[in-house]
Amino acid sequence: MLLDRKDTLQKIGIDVYHQRKKDAAKKLNSNQADVWKALEKNVSSCQKCSLHESRTQTVFGVGDTNADWLFIGEAPGKDEDIKGEPFVGRAGRLLNEIIFASGLTRESVFIANILKCRPPNNRDPHQEEVESCFVYLKKQIELINPKIIIAVGKIAAQQLLNTDQTMADLRGSIHSFGKKDIPLVVIYHPAYLLRSPTQKSKVWSDIVLAKESIN
Ligand code: SF4
Repeated sequence: MLLDRKDTLQKIGIDVYHQRKKDAAKKLNSNQADVWKALEKNVSSCQKCSLHESRTQTVFGVGDTNADWLFIGEAPGKDEDIKGEPFVGRAGRLLNEIIFASGLTRESVFIANILKCRPPNNRDPHQEEVESCFVYLKKQIELINPKIIIAVGKIAAQQLLNTDQTMADLRGSIHSFGKKDIPLVVIYHPAYLLRSPTQKSKVWSDIVLAKESIN
């Protein structure tokens, strides 16, 4: 008897993950969809902090607004500022691989940043910039209502969890975000993994942790 792909992979010891069917109740209703559009428009013309002076364009986020998985990085870099999309370029391709290895696709998750505009020379965000911009991300999280948040890198994790703990302290645990206690797992930033590829296996264990927290 012919084995299907799932049986074959499992027989050779590879776990097969499937994206669960979307919860229909999670879909943005028309009112929420209008709020989303208005939010995107507000961000595109935002001048609440000085980063608007040096940006090429804002980077609102990309993906499925009904996603179960929300990946959040710190801020757009040079490529993202040019393209208007988070996590593009080499680091973006590696994030795509991490997402794919999780049994998901870039289109089936949502990817955003704490800041919607690029800090000059990719410096770390200033606290007043985060305070100005965080309201947009909070609204995105409220509307998407994800089952899990993946904080990508130290800066994103520290800002989301309001802590100055190190990556060593933050990784490997399930944290929670906001009043809804959305599970949050911290992974290394792909830009760091490009410099330190031996750390990649740790990301996989963090993704397994994230899967366990929502299954
Ligand atoms: S970083 Fe955020 S708060 Fe600052 S100008 Fe851009 S969108 Fe507005």
